[in-house]
Amino acid sequence: MYKDRSGGIMGSGGSSRTDLLSGGAIDRKRINEALDKHLKKTSTSKGEDSNPPSTSTGTAKSHLPDQSETDNSEEGSDVSGSEGGGDDDDTSWISWFCNLRGNEFFCQVDEDYVEDDFNLCGLSAQVPYYDYALDLILDVESSNSDMFTEEQNELVESAAEMLYGLIHVRYILTTKGMAAMLEKYKNCDFGRCPRVFCSGQSCLPVGQSDTPRSRTVKIYCPKCEDVYYPRSKYQGNIDGAYFGTTFPHLFLMAYGNLKPQKPTQSYVPKIFGFKVHKQQ
Ligand SMILES: [Zn+2]
Repeated sequence: MYKDRSGGIMGSGGSSRTDLLSGGAIDRKRINEALDKHLKKTSTSKGEDSNPPSTSTGTAKSHLPDQSETDNSEEGSDVSGSEGGGDDDDTSWISWFCNLRGNEFFCQVDEDYVEDDFNLCGLSAQVPYYDYALDLILDVESSNSDMFTEEQNELVESAAEMLYGLIHVRYILTTKGMAAMLEKYKNCDFGRCPRVFCSGQSCLPVGQSDTPRSRTVKIYCPKCEDVYYPRSKYQGNIDGAYFGTTFPHLFLMAYGNLKPQKPTQSYVPKIFGFKVHKQQ
């Protein structure tokens, strides 16, 4: 069942099996439009940020069996045939998703956290195909999945990405979530500050808005206290609302010892060795 994950690893490059079958970017656009319609939201780019995140990070995966492969009368044999003895059958959706290219900023949310309805309060109203998306995230086989068209499957996959993001933004404010993000921070998984006088300071992900689909994720440097675009264009397409406006600041309060000293040096523009006069 999970054999498509190896194909999906290419992820954001748009080369998952589903994309290849159905025509890549055009199809992705169609799905996003459909999801837009469903969410009753117009995607408007605000201010200087002209790159609103897409619904999907392009990480579609055929988690559910293809209709073409599944004939109800011979379901048993077809299903066992499609599983094909892959070694990665024990990979959970969550770890698969977090290992996709471009998804390096996401930590793995504990399944216990996802399974607790209290933590998901309000999300069913925000995410289309909520129940199916939740089943996908938790690797629960849905009895109705065989009846889905390919397009519906992709909508569910996009919805699962969105649902995971909205769970993730809550999780990383919990003690366990912060501990998971601490490991990633120590590992410089979020990248380093591009500013020369910050000397490669490890950064933290931050959203400029808590509203989904308004701004892409940025990185926050705790040293110069400024925000930057992530280096990878794949990471740069991730929705900032999946990390939120609060995370890095609460994180640095929780781990106060990690807050670096403010930079002492700043760049001085010079012409032939002389400081440039302030006034033009
Ligand atoms: Zn910096």
